[in-house]
Amino acid sequence: MFRLLRYYSVASGLALLVVVVVLVAIYRQASLASIVETVESENVAMSQALANAIWPKFSDYVTVGAPEDGDALRARPETLEIHAAAKSLVAGLSVVKIKIYRLNGLSIYSSDPSQIGKIQSYNKASIASARRGVPASEFRFRPEFNGINGPLSDRHIVGSYIPVRGKSGKIEAIFELYSDATNRVEVVSSDVKWLSIGLVWAFGLLYGVLFIIVRRADKIIKSQYADLRHEIGNRLSAQQRLQRALEEAEHANKSKSDFLAHMSHELRTPLNSILGFSETMDQEVFGKLGDKKYVEYAKDIHRSGSHLLQLINEVLDVSKVEAGAMEMNESNVDLNDTMKECAALMKDEAKKVGIKLNLSVPKYLPEFRGDDLRLKQIFLNLLSNAIKFTPTGGEITLEAGLEESGSLKIAVADTGIGIEAEDLQRILLPFEQVEDHMNRKTPGTGLGLALTKALTELHGGKLSLESEFGVGTKVTLRFPPERAIITQPELPLIHP
Ligand code: ADP
Repeated sequence: MFRLLRYYSVASGLALLVVVVVLVAIYRQASLASIVETVESENVAMSQALANAIWPKFSDYVTVGAPEDGDALRARPETLEIHAAAKSLVAGLSVVKIKIYRLNGLSIYSSDPSQIGKIQSYNKASIASARRGVPASEFRFRPEFNGINGPLSDRHIVGSYIPVRGKSGKIEAIFELYSDATNRVEVVSSDVKWLSIGLVWAFGLLYGVLFIIVRRADKIIKSQYADLRHEIGNRLSAQQRLQRALEEAEHANKSKSDFLAHMSHELRTPLNSILGFSETMDQEVFGKLGDKKYVEYAKDIHRSGSHLLQLINEVLDVSKVEAGAMEMNESNVDLNDTMKECAALMKDEAKKVGIKLNLSVPKYLPEFRGDDLRLKQIFLNLLSNAIKFTPTGGEITLEAGLEESGSLKIAVADTGIGIEAEDLQRILLPFEQVEDHMNRKTPGTGLGLALTKALTELHGGKLSLESEFGVGTKVTLRFPPERAIITQPELPLIHP
């Protein structure tokens, strides 16, 4: 799982090691460069002293007078004189070898006689630099070489090429001075050793402290990971339980809807017989019933049966909608006709209780793509509610129109008792009514609005309810533009 500690150990260990090596290398390099610089300036001073001692006497000899052959040069007394002067000058100093070159690179003098009379073939860049008047130095390790005072071995040498100027200030020759920097290099080596030890200690300590912190963090992460896994496990099983409960609830709801649909269907068959027979009796089709109370009873049976049938039909519709099994029989509906028909159906009922029913439908209303029967059901539900909840002398308006967006708007407004704001949402649910069943003065099941809302939504529409308690109620249905089938090209927009 987590390898934080291992990653940390390897990565930071390596990083610290690299840092130590790089720091030490930089320090060593800088120290050696500083040694070379210091020794070079010493060599420049030394060569000046040498020039002062021998140049007035030997400048002509070196530059033009000396032969070019090694043996001839070695045999010349000037060579021995220069050697003696050089030797006495560097006695006790760190200079261990001296050479004098002509500008063409020929060594006229060397403290190592075997090198006299040879053209300098290496370090050409340093010779060239000295020829331009700029001293140049090199640092190197020499396992063995002949020094001015005899053979030397395992020496760290700084060799400097220094221009020698004549009286006129012109560069006339080049001195090569070897300085022994072994002691200084040893000091640097010792510094490097202690620096390495110090850095390893300091970084080791840092590594140790960080190791403890990382180990602690690793432990915390591990325990949090375990907690998280546990939590995820819990949540997953809770989710599974929830899913199961949801499935069970859906199943139970479907069983309920199936049961209601089945029951409603079964109840309707005997109810149709009751309705048919009570009507036959009421109209005394097969002869007089005798006492007029029987006629009254037959009427009552028919009225109650009709009410029961309506209730059963509504229950059946609600369960169909809930089960998603409501089938829509869509066609192009002439809304004008449908609304007129519904208004005419309810007009008498309204008149009976002293309510004025207005219809406000524009002449050119587009056809509506929907289920005519269900639309009638919607309008009749809304109109019957408006009549039920509007006192005598009130007014009801059924209106329709097109909005600027192309939506079709249908509304039923009344000047009835109104609904309090807190009840507005609730009464849209099945079986919900403002007054409870015991205190009701008006008949009803509490299914009408829920069904109207569901049927509106099955047409892609939305139902909204506005009401002011004691003033009136307005139920508005809005259907999307695609439900309005515009057949009249110059249809005016009407905003009721
Ligand atoms: P029902 O009319 O069968 O009781 P509905 O679902 O149609 O059932 O209405 C639910 C309740 O909403 C009604 O009982 C009534 O309290 C309230 N309501 C509906 N329409 C109106 C209205 N136009 N004015 C006042 N109250 C209304």
